[in-house]
Parts: sequence; structure tokens; C-alpha cells
Amino acid sequence: MARRTFAETVAGEVGCLREMYNRQGNGFAEKKAKHSVVQAGLFQTAADARVYVGLELTYDMGIKPTVKALCDGFGCADPRFERSRGRLSSDADVAEYVKDDLAEARKWAQAHAESCLAMPEGAE
Ligand SMILES: [Zn+2]
Repeated sequence: MARRTFAETVAGEVGCLREMYNRQGNGFAEKKAKHSVVQAGLFQTAADARVYVGLELTYDMGIKPTVKALCDGFGCADPRFERSRGRLSSDADVAEYVKDDLAEARKWAQAHAESCLAMPEGAE
């Protein structure tokens, strides 16, 4: 089977979230936001910690994308990067919309991976 592109994966995930959201009861009060994360990158630091890049999707009458990068180094001084967007319609091209944020997050993650000295949690 051909590997799906990132844009296809994101669009598929948005479709699933919308379906799960819409399946809950009829009134707005009964509906709870649905979340999902699509992995978008992984970097390893010299000390063996990992810096993850992901796209968090929140469906709540539309899709709200948040690009995040997170270092799992224990005691890392600056472990987070985050860029949020407002709500988009569920048929928006979310991957295209967050393209620049993702590029920025990957750049942050790579630079962070090159300079972070925090050890992974649980390391001796
Ligand atoms: Zn770090």
C-alpha cells in the first residue's frame, strides 16, 4: 500500500474527528471537543533525549490546529514550542494552512536538538 502523504493523513484525521464529534447526541451541549495528534517530526539530541514535532488537531464545530514541538530531556530549560491557529472549516486544507508553522517548529526542534544537553528521563 502506498504511504499516505502528510496532507492526506491530516485530512483523514480531520474527517475522523468530525465524524466522532457529530456522532455525539444532537444538542451542542452534548458535544465534546475531539483531539488527535499527527506526528510530524522527531529529532535526537546528543544526550539522547528526543524532540518531537506534532500537529494537534481539536475538532469543535470546526478544526483548530496547533503545531507543537516538545523535548523530553529531563530538566530541559526550554522544552516547548507552540503555534496555534484559529478555527478553520473542516474542509479547509489544514496541512497547507500550518505549513509555515511546521517548518518553524522543525527548525526550532533541530536547533534545540543540536544544543540541548538535558538527559532523557530515567537515564543513569
Ligand atoms: Zn531539551
